[in-house]
Amino acid sequence: MPLLKLEDTYLHKGKRRALVAELKSKGIQSQEVLNAINTLPRHFFFDSALISHAYEDKAFPIGEGQTISQPYTVAFQTELLNIHHGDKVLEIGTGSGYQGSILHLLGAEVYTIEYQRKLFEGTSKFLKRLGIEMNLFYGDGTGGLPAYAPFDKILVTAGAPIIPEALISQLKPGGILVIPVGDRKKQAMIKITKKNDGTLSREEYDNFAFVPLLGKDGWR
Ligand code: SAH
Repeated sequence: MPLLKLEDTYLHKGKRRALVAELKSKGIQSQEVLNAINTLPRHFFFDSALISHAYEDKAFPIGEGQTISQPYTVAFQTELLNIHHGDKVLEIGTGSGYQGSILHLLGAEVYTIEYQRKLFEGTSKFLKRLGIEMNLFYGDGTGGLPAYAPFDKILVTAGAPIIPEALISQLKPGGILVIPVGDRKKQAMIKITKKNDGTLSREEYDNFAFVPLLGKDGWR
């Protein structure tokens, strides 16, 4: 029932408003980020069987052993990126396409890479159907996307063992990289800012639990 899935009812809208209030109470401050979450129907990105859970502040399976990130995590990472209209943003880990769509709604030009072919194919088709335009790539994102670099912002949505050097080199001066780094179970959220003189500053935030980043500079 594909048409039913893409219906955004008053019930969904109400649950979404409640989710936004919950994110605010958990500390998310950016009104732009909260508005984007309030606008984008998260249930569109869910398997039909799980739709009733779409507005819980939890991660859920999207197939291929992967998950759609918890709304709080999406909000937290997006807030750290401080997206401005027209920013060129690279996302590693397309997954369901939800996080990328939030970036798109904030006015970013989105480039996103996915390592699992089935997810890449499914999400590409689905975003086309939704009419959400972004540049999707299949492959290992730990090397970034040299042909399209540099980027204003880079976001990694899987847990990394180290910060891949390629991602830092593909940041513009003034650019921001947000990446969860740690072991396989938990990762600290790290924000790297490349200053205009090329030097880096590093801020560390709370722990999160992401699925592992695979590939050359990921977990093998
Ligand atoms: N941003 C996603 C969350 C996806 S979970 C969303 O909004 O739904 C993390 C995703 O990263 C998974 O889909 C996983 O397959 C992908 N991934 C893991 N290692 C990767 C790599 N090296 N390059 C690209 N994607 C990767």
